[in-house]
Amino acid sequence: MHLKRAVSAKPTQSRCLWIVIVLLVMSLAVAAQTPELSKTVQEFVRVQAPKIVLTHVRVIDGTGAPAVEDQNVVIQGGKIAAIEKGADVPAAEGTTVLNLGGYSVMPGIVGMHNHLFYIARPNLDANRHFDEPVLVPQMTFSAPRLYLAGGVTTMRTTGSIEPYSDLNLRRDIDAGKLPGPHIDVTAPYLEGSTSYFIQMPHLTSPEQARETVNYWIDMGATSFKAYMNITRAELKAAIDAAHARGIKITGHLCSVTYKEAAELGIDDLEHGFEVNTELDPGKKPDVCTPTDGAETLARMDPSGPETKELIQTLVSHHVAVTSTLPVFEAEAGDGRPPVRQQVLDAMTPEAREDYFLLRQRPPSAPPPKIDPAVLWKHELAMERAFVAAGGLLMSGPDPTGRGDVVPGFSDQRGIELLVEAGFTPVEAIKIATLNGASYMGKDKEIGSVATGKNADLVVVKGDPSKQISDVENVEIVFKDGVGYDSKKLLESVRGRYGQY
Ligand SMILES: [Zn+2]
Repeated sequence: MHLKRAVSAKPTQSRCLWIVIVLLVMSLAVAAQTPELSKTVQEFVRVQAPKIVLTHVRVIDGTGAPAVEDQNVVIQGGKIAAIEKGADVPAAEGTTVLNLGGYSVMPGIVGMHNHLFYIARPNLDANRHFDEPVLVPQMTFSAPRLYLAGGVTTMRTTGSIEPYSDLNLRRDIDAGKLPGPHIDVTAPYLEGSTSYFIQMPHLTSPEQARETVNYWIDMGATSFKAYMNITRAELKAAIDAAHARGIKITGHLCSVTYKEAAELGIDDLEHGFEVNTELDPGKKPDVCTPTDGAETLARMDPSGPETKELIQTLVSHHVAVTSTLPVFEAEAGDGRPPVRQQVLDAMTPEAREDYFLLRQRPPSAPPPKIDPAVLWKHELAMERAFVAAGGLLMSGPDPTGRGDVVPGFSDQRGIELLVEAGFTPVEAIKIATLNGASYMGKDKEIGSVATGKNADLVVVKGDPSKQISDVENVEIVFKDGVGYDSKKLLESVRGRYGQY
């Protein structure tokens, strides 16, 4: 440890002992925070020192407060040691000073719907035809690097396909062996018996749901996700089993409506208000509908009584909602999202091909029955109404849904789309940082830029509090006080996303 060099005064004997004890405690704290980093990880480290001072930087603290100009942020022992008025700091041994005039620092993104896989549609063609079964290849190499490069320092996997890979990845990242964010490993999907996905467990009874939940908690999973075809009885069994052990459960639902799930005690609902099926015509209990909630969203007037009642039910049952706007943006049409060269660079040639095939409506396809522009408008307005009513809205892009939602980049896009929904830039940043931390019960350690919290920070060029697209200009991502080089991480996965 280089900490000893910080002490230069000649102490008396008793003082000396005191200092030794303090140093010992400090070095233990540092050891707990920052493990020895492997060669693989060190390759991406741009800044690592006993003390790091970011001078003259704009602070967007993640609480929704206005940005504060010209601050010094002091990082020590993996934590934010101080936030002070901007000043020049002389370089010293053991202290690295970064002059960040023109840059902003914000909390590391807490991605709440951030998968570690890709969805492959075998033999996809221009008519959007593909062969069964849809497959979900694991991206244990590229996804963690893309997330960290994009500013994500904590993420929830929100449904696992290769749970042992995810659990071991979390262990290796925490041990400093592999680069990546902190991971909340969600267990394998709790899916019902009529699933479309061949790689998911297909539950057939409440008893099996209970056993599955207990098994995966024993294996180390720290969250659960119910999926589209689960029944109310299975969901209830899963919720009770998870809660009995202090673990939260979210859902991408269809067979169970939002209100039903809230009353059963679910903690969070995925995909904003896009997959609530309560007003879908012909909805039968415990059975998913053909439009997966699109009918309901189209029928819900964002300022009407049904919306009000739904939101009140969610808020009164303390059910959070995860906004996943990036995965729906392409459906809104008009050639959205804008093509980003860096996103294309990350993909394999095959993934890039699929990306362009999925971006355009096949010439032979009939126009959609439900106007996508109406769905988009309703979704944005309902997310705003939910927050206005006191609801906890979080953010996560759902990478892979269509091939155009790539880890990291899409987390940034999610923040931009929240601004399109009508949130101010600093509110949007709070939704993508502090709100997720609060949901996970980690808001004492992460989620905002505050003295004493873990130094999980994103340094971006420009001012996202004024121009939200500046969240794309990530330079350095600090995780536990170690600064990672965003560009180097991206370079290491160039052309890999979609393959491994
Ligand atoms: Zn998902």
